[in-house]
Amino acid sequence: MKPISQSHLDLRSVRALILDADGTLWYGDRSVPGVPELFAFLREQRIAHIIATNNSVHPAPVILAKLERFGVRLGAEHLITCTEVTSSYLKDRFPRGAKVYPIGQRGLLEALQAGGYEILTDVSQKADAVVVGADPTLTYEKLKYAVLHIQRGAIFVGTNPDVVSPNSEGLLPEAGAIQAAVAAATGISPVVMGKPQPYLFQMAVKKIGSQPAETAVIGDRLDTDILGGHTVGLHTILVETGVDRASSISEKQVNPEMVVTDLVALVQAWREQLQCVGCAG
Ligand SMILES: [Mg+2]
Repeated sequence: MKPISQSHLDLRSVRALILDADGTLWYGDRSVPGVPELFAFLREQRIAHIIATNNSVHPAPVILAKLERFGVRLGAEHLITCTEVTSSYLKDRFPRGAKVYPIGQRGLLEALQAGGYEILTDVSQKADAVVVGADPTLTYEKLKYAVLHIQRGAIFVGTNPDVVSPNSEGLLPEAGAIQAAVAAATGISPVVMGKPQPYLFQMAVKKIGSQPAETAVIGDRLDTDILGGHTVGLHTILVETGVDRASSISEKQVNPEMVVTDLVALVQAWREQLQCVGCAG
């Protein structure tokens, strides 16, 4: 198999890397090949790096613990989730704090608590914002409260737009599906934080202190990772270990600058290009 099926990207110009998680670093509970080798390479070459994920279910320490099981130990400064971006967005809208009605799991609830928001559990008080993430414990009551708060003037924010997430049972409803139910009942669409909207990548670049022109994003989905990367002016690398393949490009009309079969192929190509510093190009 050809390790690199397409490349218009000079990796020597990339000084920072934003990484997707699901489908890029792991697939469910399985690591993809080459994860420890990639992070060792990034550290060795002093290439800044951060994982940027649309996962609203798990808090950052749970995600970092999973990575550690796959042989990579990273600090919290190397991870940004859509819930952290959601909390930051609310801070801009409500600098003096806010009452928030959430639909979501620990990842969202802990991010809101860390942001100092008052979390409502019913409609006895007026909410400033309704935030909807993925929630496997969704009930009619939660939908009802979210809808009532929005009808009473709360802004409507979504953590991420994904409508389904892959699972051993099939494609299960994700945050976007719940947002669609609330939108149907209120006639109001949410402001959505995760990829492909620009907020997550903009905050990732800020967190690692890089410039978009020297930063690449690597991910397995054309419609989120690669499209979102284009929106923010990042270099883009599709890795074929998750949802999309090079063969999906013409159908989806989203063009990454580079396509690699896996992370092993990326490190190999990057090393070869760096060893070629004296070459023309
Ligand atoms: Mg992914």
